[in-house]
Amino acid sequence: MNKKNIERIAAERIEILIDNALREMHNDENLSQSYAKLARKIAMRVRIRMPYWMRQLFCKKCKQFIVPGFNSRMRIGRAKVKCIRITCMKCNHVYRKLIES
Ligand SMILES: [Zn+2]
Repeated sequence: MNKKNIERIAAERIEILIDNALREMHNDENLSQSYAKLARKIAMRVRIRMPYWMRQLFCKKCKQFIVPGFNSRMRIGRAKVKCIRITCMKCNHVYRKLIES
């Protein structure tokens, strides 16, 4: 198998895992975390970058899987430059994201 194929299969598996993780978060958080951890592991092993929407589901500090409204808080800043503040409720790390407009 060539590298391109491996990357494609890995990307598919990561997407399925993240899907499952999102679904399980409300039923079984531990299971959800283990799906997400596995997805991260695959991405690192194959050395592919997760798409943006997936990357923002992981806390930059504690690396846990955080879902807005469940274990992370999202606030929209009212400053001139629009940004979102995301608070990880696992480690209380806050990070900002600029909204492109
Ligand atoms: Zn965190």
